[in-house]
Amino acid sequence: MNCKHCEYPNNENWFYCKNCGERASSPKFTSTMFMRNESSKRTDIEFSTTTLDAHISKTQKDKQLKDSNMWKKRIKQASMN
Ligand SMILES: [Zn+2]
Repeated sequence: MNCKHCEYPNNENWFYCKNCGERASSPKFTSTMFMRNESSKRTDIEFSTTTLDAHISKTQKDKQLKDSNMWKKRIKQASMN
């Protein structure tokens, strides 16, 4: 497969073109190469896990806050009656 930028022969399927330095292959091909890169994959998982954990803890905090507000209101109403 030749480089899509400069048509330089890329018989060894280099990620970047040896001649012009641009990505030699199509986006589909490069994303496949990216997934095969173990370190990139691991960084992706760590990133998404951290984000997910932060999201869950934030959601739980919001829920706890709402719950405590709800109980405060109920206790107020109960003591008023
Ligand atoms: Zn090129």
